[in-house]
Amino acid sequence: GKVLVTGANGFLAYWLVKRLLEQGYSVRGTVRAQSKGIHLLETFKDYTGQLEIVEVEDIAKPGAFDQVVKGVDAIFHSASPVHLNADDPDEQILPAVGGTKGLLQSAMDYGNSVKRFIYMSSCATVFRFQAEPATFNEDDWNDTSVKEVQEKGRDASGASKYCASKTLAERAAWAFMQDNKDKVGFDLVAIQAPYVFGPFLQDVAVPEKLNSSNLDWWDAVVKGKKDDKFLATMGMEWIDVRDVALAHILSLQKEAAGGNRCIVSSGVFKWQDFVNIAHTGDSKLPAGNTSYDPSKAVHHVRFDVSKARKDLGIKYITLEEGTKDMLAQFKEKGWIA
Ligand code: NDP
Repeated sequence: GKVLVTGANGFLAYWLVKRLLEQGYSVRGTVRAQSKGIHLLETFKDYTGQLEIVEVEDIAKPGAFDQVVKGVDAIFHSASPVHLNADDPDEQILPAVGGTKGLLQSAMDYGNSVKRFIYMSSCATVFRFQAEPATFNEDDWNDTSVKEVQEKGRDASGASKYCASKTLAERAAWAFMQDNKDKVGFDLVAIQAPYVFGPFLQDVAVPEKLNSSNLDWWDAVVKGKKDDKFLATMGMEWIDVRDVALAHILSLQKEAAGGNRCIVSSGVFKWQDFVNIAHTGDSKLPAGNTSYDPSKAVHHVRFDVSKARKDLGIKYITLEEGTKDMLAQFKEKGWIA
């Protein structure tokens, strides 16, 4: 079959494109400018005829996707601004929500062969910042970030602005499906991933240009930029990028995934957990907080992944494996000795 992947040059989408091609799918990937597709075509040159790159300059423009949805069986929507330092919240909300709604509209109007729409959502749409530790599942929605952004606008935290953009976009997607349930010929799946780390395939000239989540990892684990308190107390849940790609493909292939949200996650971490593994493997890397005791770590946010286990059945890449592969790539790049 043929599938569409938006924002194909992004960190997550790159792995998704790779796995799709490996499994024999034909992929039409969108990028904001043709120049951003050059490295994709070069990376996947062994799959000529299977990969097509098209330019969609402004995803939020109505009708932007009308042509590209034609002839595809499924859509993976990944393009969205991912960083925690927006000024005006609309910088993220407009493309996130407008891109999602516009793509759904195009799929309904012109994507006659589309059977499934898979939205690359985020655990940002699920968990709330709160004092007491909690475990969240697919019934939970992070509306507190939306509220904060509505109340504070530019003064809301960067994390809240990003979380709000993802929550509003996913909510808009489910609302679209509900509003058009008699007209759409496809179902919707939303995959919620927590912090995503892992080796990258996209073109990154220098570490400072890594995507947002891997840059956080680089700063904390390799550069030692975080203080002891941060390393021992801050963290979340995480997943390796290759597992995110796998989850997306399985959610296309497994009939039962249709119409569902699905949280995928490898488990909790504190930044010092990654630092410990990295430092143990290579003593030249920072030791970080040497008094950290993992058994005393309090994890405020946990995700219940039993639904994904049942519906998708993924065996997650571990902290050790993910760390080893990231460091191997950094070495290969000459970024660390
Ligand atoms: P990247 O920053 O690597 O990729 C983002 C993609 O979206 C790029 O193709 C980028 O294009 C495109 N994009 C960014 N802003 C816009 C915009 N205003 N209009 C159109 N396209 C835009 O991010 P990730 O791969 O990390 O994230 C991909 C998806 O996964 C996102 O939807 C994100 O919310 C979600 N996600 C990411 C997590 C993470 O930890 N990384 C965790 C959970 C979910 P360009 O290169 O032109 O800027």
